[in-house]
Amino acid sequence: MIIANRFTIEDLPDLPHSRQLKVGFPWLTFDGALEPEFRHAHFDENLRHIRVNLCLAVILSVVFSGVDAMVLGPALNRIPSMIHMLLIIPLLLLCVAGSFAQGRHRLYPPLALAAGTSVGLGVVAIQLIASSGGVSIMFPCLLLTSIFVYFMGGLIFYHALAANAVVTFAYLCAGTLLELPSREFGYDAMSLVALNLFCASVVYMHEKTSRLRFLEAALLRELVARDGLTGIQNRRMFDQHIQRAWQQAVRETERLAVLLVDIDCFKDYNDRYGHQAGDECLRAVAVSLSQCARRPLDFVARYGGEEFAVVLYEASREYVAEVLTRIQRSIAELNIPHEASRVAGRLTVSIGAAFILPGAGRTYEGLIQLADEALYSAKEQGRNRVVVMEAEYQSLSTGRFDKRRGQRAG
Ligand code: GH3
Ligand code: MG
Ligand code: MG
Repeated sequence: MIIANRFTIEDLPDLPHSRQLKVGFPWLTFDGALEPEFRHAHFDENLRHIRVNLCLAVILSVVFSGVDAMVLGPALNRIPSMIHMLLIIPLLLLCVAGSFAQGRHRLYPPLALAAGTSVGLGVVAIQLIASSGGVSIMFPCLLLTSIFVYFMGGLIFYHALAANAVVTFAYLCAGTLLELPSREFGYDAMSLVALNLFCASVVYMHEKTSRLRFLEAALLRELVARDGLTGIQNRRMFDQHIQRAWQQAVRETERLAVLLVDIDCFKDYNDRYGHQAGDECLRAVAVSLSQCARRPLDFVARYGGEEFAVVLYEASREYVAEVLTRIQRSIAELNIPHEASRVAGRLTVSIGAAFILPGAGRTYEGLIQLADEALYSAKEQGRNRVVVMEAEYQSLSTGRFDKRRGQRAG
């Protein structure tokens, strides 16, 4: 499968979405967690239309119940009118309510399946009563109901197919048992079966396209979010993440830390060992950093060049110190020789760390700047070390911090 001109599916990063694209999905089912993820997104995408369609169906049901009363007459319309008032309209209203419910993602699909089947069976019953009473002009209503269940109620392919299969089967069986006039019944039955085939085919194609679009969109998001060389999150995601984390930290009064990790004498490394080896180094450091900050809200990104950023949420002094120690240890354990280094015989990093309790008058830009100044200070002090800056936030009125404030070397 070709995603773009020169970019084939084989070039995609190894993710559940790309694996699913590779194996395909002819049975309209995704593996593992992707299936509920798709259904959730698909439902959300169509929710507004589903609600509008359901309201339309309620109005049309009311109109049709009035028309049926005129066409059938009071005696013949007794049961059909009860089916309209006690089954079809309440079920449609229940679906409208279900589409607004808190747990709608779990609630709506089985509800729509049950309602679609029941409404269809209700319409079959009305149709059979009318036909038995000699009124054969109401069959199109059954076709309309099938079309609605296929396209407009927000059912996935298999649910729409199941509901319509039950309804069609019921119509065929009941029509045969009741010995409806064979010419009309035969023609109507054939039309209903043909309509099911057409609609099922179109809904299958439509859902297949939706699923493909879902996978491609997810992959595109991944590609946009990841750094091409190291596979970790990129600068764009760092910028987004720090803003969100800051807002959340303000709301929840939690401390936030930013660690800027810069490889020492990396230009010299490239000059000595070549750019390819430099790239390998960057990958190894990225993996190490990702393993050092693994709490759910911890975040690691390539900040740019040979610089990485780590954002820690709920960052107590102890936790920041623990992560810093882990990073230093894991870089040491990489034990990458660096004979051209002015610092040590192996690859080392300098780290500037800053942490702060966000609040009024402070900004995340100030926090990053503080970490940047800490990194600068670590470099100035001879590299291969950590400098932590903790803002004396009570006295600060802007997000900009003085480099000397609260500084201590680790
Ligand atoms: P310092 O200790 O002061 O940080 O010195 P440095 O040499 O690490 O810093 P400098 O900013 O002088 O050089 C950064 C080097 O990082 C230069 C550049 O070639 C290298 N670099 C940046 N991005 C990449 C990359 O993607 N791959 C490779 N191999 N090298 C990169
Ligand atoms: Mg450097
Ligand atoms: Mg640098």
